[in-house]
Amino acid sequence: MSETSSKFHGQCYCGNVQVAVSGPAAVSGYCHCLDCRKWHGAPINAFSVWPSSSVNIEGETLMSEQSDASGRLSCRVCGGCVANLKPSLGMTVVYPMTLAGAEDSLTFEPSFHIFYGERVMDLADGLPKFVSLPPDFGGNGETIAEAEQTGWRA
Ligand SMILES: [Zn+2]
Ligand SMILES: [Zn+2]
Repeated sequence: MSETSSKFHGQCYCGNVQVAVSGPAAVSGYCHCLDCRKWHGAPINAFSVWPSSSVNIEGETLMSEQSDASGRLSCRVCGGCVANLKPSLGMTVVYPMTLAGAEDSLTFEPSFHIFYGERVMDLADGLPKFVSLPPDFGGNGETIAEAEQTGWRA
């Protein structure tokens, strides 16, 4: 399998929804925003982004109408998080953990943390930590210095 034709397959918690992505992710990272924490029920959200044309989702899904900027897609059967559609950007966020663990498993290669200003956990992993978003993604690029160790914030 060549680098350009690489394809990764995944599925939701119950397997009703199948996800496939072509090629390497445009970017990967960790999001600490309140919306992601609520939707995933997790302190941190690992994300990877592909051009929407490289993402194929099959199966019955449910779309959250909570936000105009995000179309959070979950499985209609198990409720598992599947993707986050960004139609204004032509991009789709696919959760790398739905693509991990298979034979043709995706390697998650995070570049940075976003919305670190909203975090509930400190991460000491050496990656850049943006208060909101990097300049390339419409943020001001402001970063937060890394804490000495990983852990829940007091
Ligand atoms: Zn499911
Ligand atoms: Zn988020």
